[in-house]
Amino acid sequence: MTDQNDLLFERARAVIPGGVNSPVRAFKAVGGTPRFIQRAQGAYFWDANDKRYIDYIGSWGPMILGHGHPAVVEAVQKAVLEGFSYGAPTEREIELAEAILALVPSMEMVRLVSSGTEAAMSALRLARGATGRKTILKFEGCYHGHADALLVKAGSGLATFGNPTSAGVPPEVVQHTLVLEYNNLQQLDEAFALHGKDIACLMIEAIAGNMNFVRATPAFAKRCRELCTQHGALLIFDEVMTGFRVGLHGAQGVLGVTPDLTVLGKVIGGGMPLAAFGGPRAIMEQLAPLGPVYQAGTLSGNPVATACGLATLKEISKPGFYEALAKKTRTLVDGLKAAAAAEGQPFNADSEGGMFGFFLMNELPQNYATVMTTDNAQFNALFHGLLDRGVYIAPALYEAGFVSAAHSEDDIAATIAAAREIFSKR
Ligand SMILES: *Cc1c(COP(=O)(O)O)cnc(C)c1O
Repeated sequence: MTDQNDLLFERARAVIPGGVNSPVRAFKAVGGTPRFIQRAQGAYFWDANDKRYIDYIGSWGPMILGHGHPAVVEAVQKAVLEGFSYGAPTEREIELAEAILALVPSMEMVRLVSSGTEAAMSALRLARGATGRKTILKFEGCYHGHADALLVKAGSGLATFGNPTSAGVPPEVVQHTLVLEYNNLQQLDEAFALHGKDIACLMIEAIAGNMNFVRATPAFAKRCRELCTQHGALLIFDEVMTGFRVGLHGAQGVLGVTPDLTVLGKVIGGGMPLAAFGGPRAIMEQLAPLGPVYQAGTLSGNPVATACGLATLKEISKPGFYEALAKKTRTLVDGLKAAAAAEGQPFNADSEGGMFGFFLMNELPQNYATVMTTDNAQFNALFHGLLDRGVYIAPALYEAGFVSAAHSEDDIAATIAAAREIFSKR
């Protein structure tokens, strides 16, 4: 039988660089042909061969209700009939803003945009504009979208600034970006001691989902807050992934640390292009048209995307939603751990709300360098073993996983059984 995925990949590569519109989809890290998805429902999607997969990426987080939730579909269908986009304000934008602010108490005002990249980039500009400072501080392994100033890796030492990780980013553009090791208290203290008066902001994924799943320790998160306050820098939590995913109040709710600015995306759009950034009124009013910090967007606050986001937020705000989701995710994580232990495989895993990560090592990593010591071949074998058995996890070892409200106990049990079978053949 001809593999339809192979055919589509060949066609795609002729017209789209690498055949994909976002690099991780290309399966470059794990090898093999990307699956071209033709439809999805609940916890599943089907590829071009009509093979069904249990979906653990959920569009990299947004599909927290599962695919095709009836209330969301209805809201989107209604919105589409009213018009796709107006380039003028709508009541639904106010409703979504109000819904977000009600759930994230650190935010007094919010601006809606179309992607996480745009939201993080705008938050950064706002922080620099509001503080009148240049230096930004980020951590190795945290991803904040692909704005130039954020595509940077650590330099040779602390006193030196980062190096670009992409061609097309001149070193001058990242010369004000400091990159530190995640969860390294000593480096953090030293960076503020050396550069404190110049630091506009510290941006962090407080539960990191772009180096698999790594939590900031409570002491580290607290120290980030203290140092920013002491030195007049803004603390920015990039909650594009964790917002409404690890819990109804995001990573800031889990850790009990209040940032100055919050960046949101993924779940707030429910699968549509929608993201946001917000914080205290005095800072947010620095934005155009009120203030001197420019930011704009033709499709910002899009009426169909806001309908999708609002309907999604309504569902996840229902009592007990996160308790059930977290319990299900823990069942998966505990089951995988037990399966690995039964087969004598090094393994560990962690989860918060509907987000999880697992590691082919016995310790839970604290930073990017440790995550990247994972045995690639072992991970790839597990990935393809699961894929063959109809379980779709992220095609890279440095990505988190996502469980939705639509995943059933049977789906979780089937996933654990598939993993155990693979472990047993090692
Ligand atoms: C996905 C992600 C982004 C980028 O969002 P896009 O919508 O892909 O531009 C930024 N920050 C974090 C933490 C993310 O997970």
